Amino acid sequence: MYPAKIDDYSRPATIAEAVAALASFGVGEAMCIAGGMSLMQAIKSRLVRPACLVDLQDVAELRGIRGSGGALSIGAMTRYVEIAGHAPFASGPFAALRDAASHVGDRQVRNRGTIGGSLCWNYMAACLPAAVLALGATLRLVGPGGERTIAIDDFLIGPLETARGEQEVLVSIDWKSAPARSGSAYKKWGLVKDALPVVGVAALVTLEANGACSAARLALAGLTAGAQRVPAGEAALLGSKGDAASLDRALEAVCANVDLHSDHWADAAYRGQLVRQLGRDVLTSAFARAKN
Ligand SMILES: Cc1cc2nc3c(=O)[nH]c(=O)nc-3n(C[C@H](O)[C@H](O)[C@H](O)COP(=O)(O)OP(=O)(O)OC[C@H]3O[C@@H](n4cnc5c(N)ncnc54)[C@H](O)[C@@H]3O)c2cc1C
Repeated sequence: MYPAKIDDYSRPATIAEAVAALASFGVGEAMCIAGGMSLMQAIKSRLVRPACLVDLQDVAELRGIRGSGGALSIGAMTRYVEIAGHAPFASGPFAALRDAASHVGDRQVRNRGTIGGSLCWNYMAACLPAAVLALGATLRLVGPGGERTIAIDDFLIGPLETARGEQEVLVSIDWKSAPARSGSAYKKWGLVKDALPVVGVAALVTLEANGACSAARLALAGLTAGAQRVPAGEAALLGSKGDAASLDRALEAVCANVDLHSDHWADAAYRGQLVRQLGRDVLTSAFARAKN
């Protein structure tokens, strides 16, 4: 299907120019385009009908992965392929980002799609919202009113809904410091390997010197609420040393506290089984990465 007519196209070189371009149209009339992997489908199907597209691909300030002294900042326009290939994410607290980005869609999607686009679109089964939620990032946004930051927990409201103002640009996804003795992981399962998953599970665990879990964040993708944390599962992990019995107890708590719906992809029992199996794998990896 061809897109409906789009009257205007803007290709800013700076964040300030991008914000000005959005603000020069009425609220909701101009939309950013990042990788276009979700937006172009939405335009073709007439789910959205922007009067102007503000193309962010030339805004160098929005790209790249920067880290120093444990702090980390990922530009919103950083593509999946760059995150998947970022060697420092091979282990430790940010490994879930690499796990997730490495398996988003197919090669074409990973070469075009961006972390910022995924968070702003916030599709219910998307991988990066769940991974970033488990890692507890802070998001930096710039709009006509200036700059603000917001916790990822407050940014992701529900499927296809975020706290981003219509004329705001997501600039970066930030962490002030990497927690010590921490490890994270993400894993998904879908009927089609190169597509959005039926269920995805992300986790971050922090361990005490004796290997017992002192903090945990656990997030799911693919259920009706979209990217969501499961506090009951996180609480059940406290004190665990990553043994199979304690992980299974925590995952039972997860299944008892989420809406495991049935649809044409999977019924509720199957979704529960995916949460248990993927959850066991993810938590085992996160504990191992934290210990290393
Ligand atoms: C074949 C296929 C398979 C896929 N498989 C998966 C998968 O396995 N897992 C998965 O998670 N996803 C998957 N996706 C979705 C993919 O991850 C999209 O790339 C992602 O959802 C959107 O990122 P994008 O950069 O393309 O954003 P776009 O489509 O360009 O934009 C998405 C939305 O975000 C807004 N936006 C983008 N950047 C900004 C910004 N910096 N500031 C403000 N607003 C912004 C846009 O206005 C738009 O509303 C798949 C997509 C396809 C086509």
